[in-house]
Amino acid sequence: MSETTWLVSRAIIDGSGGDPVEDAVLGIADGRITEITTRKDFRAPRDDIVLDLSDLVLLPGLIDAHVHLTLSHRADHASTRAEVESSSLEELTLRAVRNAQRALLAGVTTVRDLGDRGWVTLQVRDAVRRGWIGGPRILTAGVPITTTAGHCCFLGGEADGVLEVQKAARRACREGVDVVKVMATGGIMTQGSNSLEPQYTTEELMCIVGEAHRLGRKVAAHVLAAEGMRRCVEAGVDCLEHAFWTTPDSGVAYDEEIVEKLKEKGLWIDLTLAGYDRQFLPVADDTRDSASRKLTALRERFAEARRMMEAGVKTMIASDAGVRFCRFEDYFETVACAVYALDVSPVEAIRLTTLAPAQALGIEKDVGSLEVGKMADLIAVRGHPAESALELKHVERVWAGGRLVRDEAGLLASPIEIPLEVERSPIASSPTWMQPAAARASTQAKNSGATSA
Ligand SMILES: [Zn+2]
Repeated sequence: MSETTWLVSRAIIDGSGGDPVEDAVLGIADGRITEITTRKDFRAPRDDIVLDLSDLVLLPGLIDAHVHLTLSHRADHASTRAEVESSSLEELTLRAVRNAQRALLAGVTTVRDLGDRGWVTLQVRDAVRRGWIGGPRILTAGVPITTTAGHCCFLGGEADGVLEVQKAARRACREGVDVVKVMATGGIMTQGSNSLEPQYTTEELMCIVGEAHRLGRKVAAHVLAAEGMRRCVEAGVDCLEHAFWTTPDSGVAYDEEIVEKLKEKGLWIDLTLAGYDRQFLPVADDTRDSASRKLTALRERFAEARRMMEAGVKTMIASDAGVRFCRFEDYFETVACAVYALDVSPVEAIRLTTLAPAQALGIEKDVGSLEVGKMADLIAVRGHPAESALELKHVERVWAGGRLVRDEAGLLASPIEIPLEVERSPIASSPTWMQPAAARASTQAKNSGATSA
């Protein structure tokens, strides 16, 4: 066994949502956490390396489970879209590398990309895994599946009808994605796609889920509308992104029965607090009035999200980085937004961006919390994030797989074969998915000897 590096800290926030442990000491060997103790009980074995970080707080590396590495977070949707549409694949790849590295320097050690163009994020993911470039661990959906003229159709993943969506899901798996992404409703970024209505039938969604599960991938669905929520829950989509309950007349139709089903099926919601939401965070020159107006607006936007959480739905939060004014280096603002929008403590907001997404992505065996045996993905922060999530802005060092990847000068260390591969938990595929409903009905009719069409 190789030597142990000991980090002597001001405190540890372990990602589980529990109280911080003050004066904690954490040992790392062979890329994994070997021991967590307190300064009082700590005696460094001879020859081990001891780093004095007693003015810094240690946390698990943050996980941002909804990003778009190929997008350029311009001031509005139209120019962000124009840029991704007109970029060459080489430009997209380089932009993805730059964005991934900015996230890593800000303490995000794992990202899940939920929609690129040209499958370029798969190359970036693999380049990080091989140690060719520095970057966070990347899980990616590649090109998202959408309808003709549907949300993000400009990324190239149009598929209509049962056969085409099955084929699209199979294609994504052949390309080597980690997760399959589908646009279940229209989206605001795509003019004319109608974000208030679903764009796939339940049957089409079932086919995507069935194929993805059969091939060992979970499914994440973009969903902004109540009817879209219903269909996704019906189809058993693993992870509902955004999870808004808007109606065609721009009202809200929260449905307790659907939420109950969502919970029963153990599906996740991924609440994105994007650049748009971050603007509701009070800033220094806000008056008391303008600050409280902003917070009221933010809380209103997430009223149904809070209801789902109160009902016990499995929840995580993410940023949607890459969309309009949502920079990769500002993830701390998403965590801070969650404190206000979702009525959670900073420590709970940290759980929602560490252990919770690790569980949702099925990688919690290796990452997501500071526990003995897990990979040493961690960050050291000045200030105490248990007091204010905004302190996450002051990330001073970052380790991924036990290696220091951001040093105290804020530089990205050279990667050299960082072992960032994680084990994904297996997926149980349901026996009823195989055939679309129509086909199932006709088989049943045949089996029962019925003759009607
Ligand atoms: Zn998105």
